[in-house]
Amino acid sequence: MTVRANSSGGPVVSTLLILGGTADARALAAAVLARRPGMRVVTSLAGRTAAPNLPEGEVVTGGFGGAAGLADYIAAEGVDALIDATHPFAAEISKSAVEAATIAHIPRLVLARLPWVFVQNAAVQHVRNINAAKSTLETDGKRVFLAIGRQEINQFNSLKDRFFLLRFVDPPQTAPDFLQCQVLTGRPGTLEDERSILQQFAIDTLVAKNGGSDASRAKIDAALELGIRVILIDPPAPPPPPHADSVEGALAWLDGL
Ligand code: NAP
Repeated sequence: MTVRANSSGGPVVSTLLILGGTADARALAAAVLARRPGMRVVTSLAGRTAAPNLPEGEVVTGGFGGAAGLADYIAAEGVDALIDATHPFAAEISKSAVEAATIAHIPRLVLARLPWVFVQNAAVQHVRNINAAKSTLETDGKRVFLAIGRQEINQFNSLKDRFFLLRFVDPPQTAPDFLQCQVLTGRPGTLEDERSILQQFAIDTLVAKNGGSDASRAKIDAALELGIRVILIDPPAPPPPPHADSVEGALAWLDGL
């Protein structure tokens, strides 16, 4: 890899790879391009949604084939900095990012919001993982909004004696294997949207991942406003540092390279 130097002797980042799939990743791509119009900014998406919200700059889709594949991509494209702005629950790609950055000898940053904190709020139950969320539901919750995406929902389908409201970005290819459920298609909405969904389906329990993002927070606020119980799943252990918890923090890291 050729490393150019800036006026203070530090390396110049000319190609930045952002691992995306989040609102923060999109905001970061736009902010970097606004600040450094000459920089090549590539955002990578897993390719799970049919019509993703696209960021500014270049986009690649569909995965790299593990850490080795990502390291190969970094070398082939001359990527000289990597920002992992994936969702805090996307643990596999974050692990690949750590390994690939090490193999390719490029700096890597994690951009992730801090988890939401609800101090002494009796309506919020924090659980360690999906299994714990299911165990918690076994004792209570007749009409449940299971707002955790689509990948792990089947872990709940043995709970036959209750209604589940599911929401996916794209319509599912096959009907979810639930005795009583309704599927909504779409992305997280505004406080008003979420309030009206919770009321329309007479939801008594919301199960969600504690992703920390503003983009998915409204459903929690709406539930708490309506006195609905919230089961909040803790994120897995974060990837190794350095971390930034805001787009501004990530820009500052980039400026310091
Ligand atoms: P994951 O389990 O960590 O990743 C599984 C595989 O998908 C990875 O090994 C990688 O394939 C590919 N992949 C994931 N994110 C990628 C990216 N940004 N660019 C290129 N390849 C990617 O991920 P996940 O939990 O399925 O999440 C998939 C995407 O959805 C992530 O980008 C994440 O930001 C977004 N998302 C996830 C959640 C969630 O709750 N998990 C919520 C909102 C958004 P290869 O090994 O072939 O490279």
